Amino acid sequence: MNLGNLNVILKSFPSFRFKQAEEAIYKNLISNWNESNLPKELKELLSKECPLEIKAELLKSKDGKTYKALINLEDENAIETVLMRHKDDRNTVCVSSQVGCALGCDFCATGKSGFKRNLTSGEIIEQVLFFARFLKKEGQAITNVVFMGMGEPLLNYDEVIRAIKIINDKNKFNIGARKISVSTVGIIEGIKKLTKEPLQINLALSLHAPDDKLRNELMPINNKYPLKKILSTIKEYIARTNRKVMIEYLMLENINDYPEQAVQLAELLNNNLESLYFVNLISYNPTGIYKPSRSERIEKFKENLEKCGVDAIQRYRYGVDIKGACGQLAGKRRTK
Ligand code: SAH
Ligand code: SF4
Repeated sequence: MNLGNLNVILKSFPSFRFKQAEEAIYKNLISNWNESNLPKELKELLSKECPLEIKAELLKSKDGKTYKALINLEDENAIETVLMRHKDDRNTVCVSSQVGCALGCDFCATGKSGFKRNLTSGEIIEQVLFFARFLKKEGQAITNVVFMGMGEPLLNYDEVIRAIKIINDKNKFNIGARKISVSTVGIIEGIKKLTKEPLQINLALSLHAPDDKLRNELMPINNKYPLKKILSTIKEYIARTNRKVMIEYLMLENINDYPEQAVQLAELLNNNLESLYFVNLISYNPTGIYKPSRSERIEKFKENLEKCGVDAIQRYRYGVDIKGACGQLAGKRRTK
């Protein structure tokens, strides 16, 4: 698929053709131009220059709640996209923003695979389209989009924002900004830009450690953006946008899950942020290095945070058996 070509091809046609083509792609979710009601010559031209077919392999988890698509891009790269189906007909798509990731967090499969390149907004949208078409067959639709797949979205800022605008556009996917979330390790310049963006999207910060020493070990990027600096940028973000920020905290056995660390985390947050934040305790999906915390340990950690006045929730694990869970995405291409 190559959506980037659409503009170029339709330049010499009347503008209503462009509108028609976009409607066919985003509203009718066609996967072949022959399904559109465009004139025959245009269908042929678009089929050649701007094909809509998405080359992907689909895997389904045993419990049927998670699907993972491995999408082959126009070059030799492949990316992974995950669909999580909730009980109440909510459908969350987790998209990748880069091929690989340069930040090399110790616990993350994507980080271990290295960085290849940024995705274009068209390639981000392709992931959303794939699952939108899939759900349409069952009379359902995507309700939420999270940028928690492969890559660091704020290091591909412009293309990510471009994609978010398409996802949010009433005439395209029409998914409310409040249903779109971006997760970051804390790229300060990116958070600052996001603060000024007139979009009501959600921001999540991957914290994972209550002090710089441990965070430096787990996430090398912390050497460049230490905790206090990130948190003061987040504080400014909250003050300016009045939006609640989710603090993500991965639970690693005997690494960051001691009761004292819960207290330390609560102090760090209480001292550096004023309000409008909560902690999401994430189960670690094994990638070979660490062990996931036991559930009693997570429960205790949560209690300790709450005792210190910090709201905390625990995230359900989706698709561990198909390596479709956070941090397990490596984008290995199987077909050429
Ligand atoms: N680069 C961004 C967004 C993609 S990662 C970021 O790091 O925030 C999305 C989330 O998955 C992050 O919170 C990340 O820390 C988490 N994650 C990474 N590896 C994981 C693993 N093995 N198990 C569970 N979560 C993981
Ligand atoms: Fe990159 Fe996020 Fe994985 Fe870290 S956790 S390596 S930032 S994708």
